[in-house]
Amino acid sequence: MNGEPRNSDQPLDETPPSALHVMPGVSDVPSLNPYVAEQRKFQKKRIYTPEELAEGILSGNRTLLSKAITLVESNREDHNEIAQSILEKVLPSSGKSIRIGITGVPGVGKSTFIEGFGNHILSLGRKLAVLAIDPSSQLTHGSILGDKTRMESLAKSENAFIRPSPSSGSLGGVARKTRESIYLCEAAGFDTIIIETVGVGQSETQVHSMVDFFLLLMLAGAGDELQGIKRGIMEMADLIAINKADGKNEPYATRAKAEYESALHLFPPAASGWMPRAVTCSGQYGKGIDEIWNLALDYQRHTTKSGYFQKNREEQITLWFRETLKEAILDQFLEREGMRDRIHLAESKIGQGKSSVIQEIKGLLKT
Ligand code: GDP
Repeated sequence: MNGEPRNSDQPLDETPPSALHVMPGVSDVPSLNPYVAEQRKFQKKRIYTPEELAEGILSGNRTLLSKAITLVESNREDHNEIAQSILEKVLPSSGKSIRIGITGVPGVGKSTFIEGFGNHILSLGRKLAVLAIDPSSQLTHGSILGDKTRMESLAKSENAFIRPSPSSGSLGGVARKTRESIYLCEAAGFDTIIIETVGVGQSETQVHSMVDFFLLLMLAGAGDELQGIKRGIMEMADLIAINKADGKNEPYATRAKAEYESALHLFPPAASGWMPRAVTCSGQYGKGIDEIWNLALDYQRHTTKSGYFQKNREEQITLWFRETLKEAILDQFLEREGMRDRIHLAESKIGQGKSSVIQEIKGLLKT
């Protein structure tokens, strides 16, 4: 043989038409057992029915829980329909958890804290899901909360489920996705849900409207004691924890705690009847973590006894329903034929002083 590939179908004596001619070569041996390849293809394309997904979730199957959350997060109409059908099936099994919101500026130590706090919760035999709302990721596709590599030790535990923030959609859309993900996690048996967000924008209000207990992490000695955290966010907090209370920072943290404690007394009493507290902690050294968990449980006991816990959840759902209804009505209205053009025309008439706001609105609603 003269070095030609043995099973070339090219006649041996034919001169290749150009230097770029590619010799056919030896036919490939299959790199994978064809059965395994077929299996993989099958697994990849395996489409679960809503019933299978719902049953999987109810039996605590984390892979199917993940798949269902992906459907909830999807912007595709058909995915949303499946997601809604799953939700309908699992909703009666949801709700049996304590939902804790955790917020604080970037760098305050949220992920370090959640890692320590989460491990403490797991050591008590509970099951924990951590979901995130990251307002930055919708705007810039970057993320203040970081990617999946955060909370690594927690992510390895069988009893913890960590899900980063959905990365597309308006804040309202992301809030809906997170809310629905909470229900799915609860139905899968997670009895403690942490919703993490960054204390820089509107997302705290959204998180506050979907949790039972709201924890604000702060730092001492970072110049301005309020660190850009708006008073409104402090008013929403059920607990303020001055984090990084370790080493040289400890005395400053203790002083800040006293200052916040007296500031909290100046706020009007909370509807829950609970007196918000300030404590110190160190996520890194595990200090104050059990105290914070015990306070969350105290809060749950206190508000369950007074009836506020349930009432608050009902009010949250009602509010959510109203907001969603408003959005749906608006969408439907804007999608009517020619509506956007008509609105545009109305705007220019109003701008030129040719018509009044009320007159134009009446006209639009009549159409
Ligand atoms: P996040 O941006 O709020 O999630 O904050 P990280 O958890 O990523 O922490 C930001 C930085 O603060 C990191 O360099 C951490 O090592 C550090 N850090 C977090 N928690 C503590 C703490 O309790 N004590 C001290 N001294 N440093 C901490």
